[in-house]
Amino acid sequence: MDKKRSFPLILLTILFIFSLSVFYPRTVWSYPGAIYDHPVKDKVVAITFDDGPMPVYTTQILDILDHYQAKATFFMIGERMKEYPGIVKEVSEHGHVIANHTFTHPANLRTLDDRQVQWELKAASDVSESLTGQRVYLFRPPRGIMDKRLMQTVREAGYEVIMWSICADNKAAPTPELMAKRVSDQIRPGQIILLHDGRVPERKMDVEATRLILADLSEKGYRFVSVPELIDLATMPKPPTVSHKSRWPFRF
Ligand SMILES: [Zn+2]
Repeated sequence: MDKKRSFPLILLTILFIFSLSVFYPRTVWSYPGAIYDHPVKDKVVAITFDDGPMPVYTTQILDILDHYQAKATFFMIGERMKEYPGIVKEVSEHGHVIANHTFTHPANLRTLDDRQVQWELKAASDVSESLTGQRVYLFRPPRGIMDKRLMQTVREAGYEVIMWSICADNKAAPTPELMAKRVSDQIRPGQIILLHDGRVPERKMDVEATRLILADLSEKGYRFVSVPELIDLATMPKPPTVSHKSRWPFRF
């Protein structure tokens, strides 16, 4: 192909990659330092829920998790925690981890300056700490949107950035069955699965998908651990000989 002819093709390719990076930030690159999975030998995975707490759905999910003796990680929105403190306490009392998903769930964290980002982190963590007595330094950005500056700001505030390996919610999976199939088709030990329990009024599909995913994966021999437990397993492949706290990489 001569140079004149290939030029529009190159331009189109660049434009396509650029638009992908805007609309699907995870599609094109991953952010160095963020955790997407933690490969382990054991058949364990970490189930995570974003955008809660939310009446009915969060508590329905708790019942399903209990049924499978599963421990999960809930990335909660600060202002929702203030609205539904009872649900936050219930999640914590069931032994699940409550992590930070900002206070207001900004649509694009990149539009906030460093001070605003620091405020979002602190305000959300202050609420969860006041309700559970624990401060967990795990953070997931709304819609997974990050950049180099945000990574630095968040990590300087002491947080680990937790992304995901498989998102059950997808336009290509419009039913709970297809959401569960998406997970089942891609599952590997050490992966982090993303579901949602709030923000939009209807999360019935996620609840049902959670039930199907846990049934399917437990039949395949998987156990369900929190993100901190998964990281612990990955960094310490042998059975623990020292206390959990002394090896714990994040501050509570
Ligand atoms: Zn979110």
